[in-house]
Amino acid sequence: MKKAISSAIVTLFLISGCQQRKNTVAEKEVNITKNSTPAKQEPRLVANNAAAILAKKEVPVLCYHNIRDFSESAGEMTKTYTVKPANFAEQMKALADAGYHSILPNQLYDYLVYNKALPEKPVMITFDDTRAEQYSIGAAEMKKHNFKGVFFVMTVSINRPNYLSSAEIKDLSDSGNGIAAHTWDHHMVTKYSGED
Ligand SMILES: [Zn+2]
Repeated sequence: MKKAISSAIVTLFLISGCQQRKNTVAEKEVNITKNSTPAKQEPRLVANNAAAILAKKEVPVLCYHNIRDFSESAGEMTKTYTVKPANFAEQMKALADAGYHSILPNQLYDYLVYNKALPEKPVMITFDDTRAEQYSIGAAEMKKHNFKGVFFVMTVSINRPNYLSSAEIKDLSDSGNGIAAHTWDHHMVTKYSGED
């Protein structure tokens, strides 16, 4: 459970870090506009402040790890972090049947910060930890419903047995999925110290 929470925190941290940087850029742009004689310019986008962002309707974000079968006698960790392939397929079908549309982080960002429109019933489908079956089963099932996912990879595991290969990650990216950072080696963020 701790691991799940830390994964969520890493994800949020990466997204919020990105927001902060973009906010700063947007603020600078606004200042430039104020101080210069406005020619025929595109209207500058003004970023929502934190209160406005928090007041917006939330978008569900699903977080998957392992996709494989396991027995009833499997340990608590396995049961927490693993979804059976048949269940994963059912969940994707249920989302599609209910009219959900998958979105990517940039869309969520533009919605939260710039009030851009999202498709009806948006959902973000994410995968942590670079597991190989996220490509062979996860992406394959999502494709049936035209869903795109976000794959948070830890780079140290790329090309290792049972983990995504660099070719698979490139194919995921080329197919319109999002590829994001899940740190180099999945060190517990709460245990960072010094130069970490
Ligand atoms: Zn993780």
